[in-house]
Amino acid sequence: MAIIVKYATDQTARNNFPYEIVSPPYPSRCCLNRMKRMGALQQEEERQFYYRRCETCGFTVREFLSTFDMARGVSLAVQAADPTWRWMERIRRNARAEYAA
Ligand SMILES: [Zn+2]
Repeated sequence: MAIIVKYATDQTARNNFPYEIVSPPYPSRCCLNRMKRMGALQQEEERQFYYRRCETCGFTVREFLSTFDMARGVSLAVQAADPTWRWMERIRRNARAEYAA
């Protein structure tokens, strides 16, 4: 899966999730209270995470779930309970196809 977060000083923060996120390279004071999870649980090799983005300045980080077993449990629960999960998967597959083209 491609890394979608781009840290840039010469571009305005932009949220084009799940395709691209432009983030300032450093967090600001606002980030302490304004970080919000975006979208579904993401998977990268054995690790799972959420994107978390500051509503004020756009600073974005990946929030990794602490243990693999717990992450797997959460993932299964999400797949069972949340129909948007499949929609997200389809979006991601389409995004990958575009990259390959
Ligand atoms: Zn911030």
